[in-house]
Amino acid sequence: MISRMIEELLYYAIRHLHLIEEDAIFYRNYLMSEFNVKAPYDGEINYKSIDEMIVPDTLVEQFMNYCINDGLNEKEAEAKVTKIFGMLSPIPSKTIETFNALYNVDKRLATDYLYDLGIKSNYIQKTKIEQNVVIPGEVDGNEIVMTINLSKPEKSNKDIKAALAKPVGDVAYPACPICITNEGCIGSAKTAPRGNLRLIPMELAGNTWYLQYSPYGYYNEHCILILKEHLPMVVKKEYLAALFEFVDLFPHYFIGANSDLPIVGGSILSHEHFQGGNYVLPLMKVKDKILLKGRRDDVVYSILDWPATCFALRGKDKKILLDEADNFVQTWKKFTFEKANIICSTSEQHSTVTSIVTKNDETYTVYLMPRNNLTSEELPGGLYHVRPELQIIKNEGIGLIEAMGLFILPARLKRQLKLVEEIVKNPSKREEIYQNYEDMKAFEHIINEMIEGKFNSIDDLLFYTGNGILHDINVFKDERYGNEALNCFLKELELCKQD
Ligand SMILES: [Zn+2]
Repeated sequence: MISRMIEELLYYAIRHLHLIEEDAIFYRNYLMSEFNVKAPYDGEINYKSIDEMIVPDTLVEQFMNYCINDGLNEKEAEAKVTKIFGMLSPIPSKTIETFNALYNVDKRLATDYLYDLGIKSNYIQKTKIEQNVVIPGEVDGNEIVMTINLSKPEKSNKDIKAALAKPVGDVAYPACPICITNEGCIGSAKTAPRGNLRLIPMELAGNTWYLQYSPYGYYNEHCILILKEHLPMVVKKEYLAALFEFVDLFPHYFIGANSDLPIVGGSILSHEHFQGGNYVLPLMKVKDKILLKGRRDDVVYSILDWPATCFALRGKDKKILLDEADNFVQTWKKFTFEKANIICSTSEQHSTVTSIVTKNDETYTVYLMPRNNLTSEELPGGLYHVRPELQIIKNEGIGLIEAMGLFILPARLKRQLKLVEEIVKNPSKREEIYQNYEDMKAFEHIINEMIEGKFNSIDDLLFYTGNGILHDINVFKDERYGNEALNCFLKELELCKQD
């Protein structure tokens, strides 16, 4: 009964969404008019079960079903339910006020508050995220984590480039899925309903940024920091400075900037943003392979023991590290070593950097991974992109999260890999499955390799893929010219290997 559902939702909002009791009559009337209810419910509800709710799933499901039975389609119902949860959540100014008050007591209390509000308002769909397939493991002594994300839409590098080129205008509102104008928005053809989204503004290195959580949650407390203006991704010093200032404010989070070019960047290049969270990515656990010296005594420079060449700069002085990181970025952007196929630019820029900053005690670490998006006739996907035979598993650009060892694979793989397994177990079923599922033919080479015994299991195949991708994106491939190129780049950086 809808009047009872309204009462349950109101009680849920008081218990879990910080709704103040004095506002309950007002919101009851709002909900009654929204659902065309003439008189409120006066019976009992199960208070205890609502008190104990960790996620709002049962309420969301009830309201979704009600809306669908009432004639809305799934998308309309989702927009309406999201709007209602958003209405019952603290308004943005109140959210900011509470966040800041908690921040002054303890930084973690503030992020816990925003994260929990995200879950309780159904913005972060915890149950759905927990259904993602997560397979942690080790390859060549390195930890990597393979995941199949069931909620994140898959985008091709072509789509990503096209979205970047699209002029911003009155046709698209919000201009992109992470624009700050999504807060409270009912959604559009290209953006999800975000009635329940809340943003926390902050000034970092001369710009205004907004903190929010990712609704797709790749890892614990996966947050996004978004530039106020809808401006394309650029790797530049003023934004690198914002990374350092962010970890000063939230030392329990890492923060990283995807590179600013297609193939080697994230899925949204049209709006400057960072990704962070309360999580230790595999790369952050890796030891140094080569210690470097030469520029400053108060900075520790190293190359990490990781398949994709990554530099780490450590030190206590933020300003010096920022200068050093910027020098690194500028040097790499101009570095060309043709014999090793490293060409920084043609008619367009190809070289760029993925950067991540962490702070432990008083020491900052900035991870800098040189990237390049050059393509060729033989490798139209990119010279430093996933090898063609593995693109059926992962085709999207390899952003910072993956470059650091946490792989986000598309939802379709859950079904497809099950079918691969079925064919490998029972090869006589191959043709029948190909006929029923057109997309499965593209896995033929992988199926054959599995039957031949190249991979013992699907997990084995996934780890081979993750490790392979980390080698593929490496700009200094481990052969003669790669090493020569690396030595030459170190010289340009005025760094040399320590004995
Ligand atoms: Zn935007």
